[in-house]
Amino acid sequence: MNTEKSRQLFKEAEKYIPGGVNSPVRAFKSVGGNPLFIKRALGSKLYDVDGNEFIDYVGSWGPHIFGHNPSFIKKALSDALENGTSFGAPTELEVKTAKLITELVPSVEMIRMVNSGTEATMSAVRVARGYTGKEKIIKFEGCYHGHADFFLIKAGSGALTLGVPTSPGVTKGNAADTLIADFNDIDSAKKLIHTNRKEIAAVIVEAIVGNMGVVKATNDFIRQLRGLCDEEKIVLIIDEVMTGFRVAKGGAQEVLGVKADLSTFGKIIGGGLPVGAFGGKKEIMEMVAPSGPVYQAGTLSGNPLAMSAGYAALCYIKDHPDLYNELEEKSAYFEKGIKENLKRLNENLTLNRVGSMLTLFFTNEEVKDFRSAVKADTKLYGQYFHEMLKRGVYLPPAQFEAFFISAAHSKEDLDKTIEANYESLQEISK
Ligand SMILES: *Cc1c(COP(=O)(O)O)cnc(C)c1O
Repeated sequence: MNTEKSRQLFKEAEKYIPGGVNSPVRAFKSVGGNPLFIKRALGSKLYDVDGNEFIDYVGSWGPHIFGHNPSFIKKALSDALENGTSFGAPTELEVKTAKLITELVPSVEMIRMVNSGTEATMSAVRVARGYTGKEKIIKFEGCYHGHADFFLIKAGSGALTLGVPTSPGVTKGNAADTLIADFNDIDSAKKLIHTNRKEIAAVIVEAIVGNMGVVKATNDFIRQLRGLCDEEKIVLIIDEVMTGFRVAKGGAQEVLGVKADLSTFGKIIGGGLPVGAFGGKKEIMEMVAPSGPVYQAGTLSGNPLAMSAGYAALCYIKDHPDLYNELEEKSAYFEKGIKENLKRLNENLTLNRVGSMLTLFFTNEEVKDFRSAVKADTKLYGQYFHEMLKRGVYLPPAQFEAFFISAAHSKEDLDKTIEANYESLQEISK
């Protein structure tokens, strides 16, 4: 595979951009080698600057549930562009988008738009603190909630694969206000809540984790967590930045049958543009400025281009209730193919899947929390990644991430990928 142009661009990029990228996982650090520079994408395919074609399972890290550059989003964007790119004043589209989200996600009564998932989670915590008058938060080891200071403590995703569980630049004060519990272990959360009585403002959780690879909360765990938060008057924030509109129309909350007090969104909600949002109970959301005293703002929040793409995506989801059945069918077919390969090769790797999100962990043990996830052999994943890339399949360049299947993945794409999986696993076990 010729990747000369990508190599050149990366060399140039490293001179002007830290590590050559604008977000760390893109740099291929945990799988080795140089990142590919992408020129364009359509449907299930990515095309790099050297003219190589790949079946893509990253989907821009989650947003592209319909595949790349679908015509209905392109049309919405070009229509919006005619009217102007930003007004710094309210628009009708913001009202329609907010209303639609409250229809699709039952726990959300009011919502505020922001520009990224990080902004959404950061703001949700501020609101929870303002609402409860308490300061500490609990997060779970291996969950990733964006890069606000107080979340960069035992975080997942890039923070996990780069081995920087606590980043320099995060103050001791910030670290002290964030308590860490073990995912899927209700006793660890209970213990923290009881030793910090009346001090915990919020518990934040990815109810279906994507950022230590895919790991689903057990029904018991999430129900008991909900109960604990009710008893202790703690705001339960379910971070649906990845799972919202991905695992179901109503996100992880619909799959697990639980309701958050506040939910955070991003990725799919922006239809491929930079959007985030946080929302939930009216009583809590009315704390947000200007209706309440908790300050939160954004010059480009609710941007007309971003809203038009996001609104088009959400309307499509609302009008096509079969979308999630179709994704489930494709993803189950994919899972079955990979599992048959594993059997034929006498391999016993762990595959976790929830809907169209899945992770192939390079470990033989069940993965149900951070401790079991990090038993995966990341070196072997790196070799696997490059074997798949050689065969035209673009997987996440890190073990602790999710593969995403989109509506644009054809049976032919999936079959090719399953075959590449067989050959790649065979190659790396030599
Ligand atoms: C991606 C992600 C974020 C951060 O969103 P950004 O838009 O990258 O800031 C937060 N939480 C979860 C669960 C995510 O997957």
